Amino acid sequence: MTPPLPVGLTDIQAAAARIAGRVRRTPMCADPHLPGVWLKQEYRQDTGAFKLRGATNAILSLTEGQLARGVVTASTGNHGRALAHAARQAGVRAVVCLSKLVPANKVQAVRDLGAEVRIIGQSQDEAMVEVARAVAQEGLAEVPPFDHPDVVAGQGTLGLEILAEGIAPSDVLIPLSGGGLAAGVAAAIKALSPTTRVIGVSMERGAAMAASLKAGHPVEVRELPTLADSLGGGIGLDNRVTFAMCRALLDDVILVTEDEIAAAMRHIHAVTGDTVEGAAAVGHAALLSGRLSAGPRTVCILSGANVAPETFARVLEGQPA
Ligand SMILES: *Cc1c(COP(=O)(O)O)cnc(C)c1O
Repeated sequence: MTPPLPVGLTDIQAAAARIAGRVRRTPMCADPHLPGVWLKQEYRQDTGAFKLRGATNAILSLTEGQLARGVVTASTGNHGRALAHAARQAGVRAVVCLSKLVPANKVQAVRDLGAEVRIIGQSQDEAMVEVARAVAQEGLAEVPPFDHPDVVAGQGTLGLEILAEGIAPSDVLIPLSGGGLAAGVAAAIKALSPTTRVIGVSMERGAAMAASLKAGHPVEVRELPTLADSLGGGIGLDNRVTFAMCRALLDDVILVTEDEIAAAMRHIHAVTGDTVEGAAAVGHAALLSGRLSAGPRTVCILSGANVAPETFARVLEGQPA
């Protein structure tokens, strides 16, 4: 017998009850140009990405003592925004550790969300050392971006929401990076709708989970610039939660190119009028490129909206990525 997975349906249901009223229930609509394809518009979530679900569930799962001391992370991306927002909502102190290389506008954006910024060292690795120090010496609780059971359970609430739409999805396409979203959503869907295919989608340029699943253990890949920047980064060589869950629960992983992501961002903009980031468009990229055939009811999770305006303008003009 293989050991049970770290997060199951009851954890996700408990997370849904915990975060109800603190995160948005996002809309789902049919794609008018792709028959049978549905768009879960999670980019309309507060802070512009699903990460608010996991961050909120993780904070609300802390002990009284931890809540009194606060939370810490090193992320400047969607997780950092989500954690700062969730902490402020809960009246909890949030510390974000950044390297000197993080641009001033990003530093200010974190401050604007009410988080305390610590500028430490020349690299993300040095910022991570400060996170470890704050945990050990100040008793702050680290809320990591994906590899934590409470974070995964929070992201899984998105899977419950998709099933509650009542379309009985044949396929769910999930943007895949560290695998917190894929692990949580797949756990919810496979528990309640075992015949639904659950497929992770990443960019070709630096897909760490795809490479790790192929190798059979977590591996490092070189990080490369990509339109799907929220999907960059590794899964952690000491991964505890998401690798095992993605290995057990995902039916397939598909990789897409930069041009396919750009075309998918234009498609989504054309059908919704909305701006989504590259990571949110990878499911459509897989379908529009023909790398994957849609089932009769295929749901694409549009995971986030946070793209630099100049990048989105370049994509809309069809300039090469
Ligand atoms: C974080 C993120 C992802 C990937 O989530 P993981 O849990 O790391 O796999 C996908 N899309 C967006 C917009 C994100 O911010």
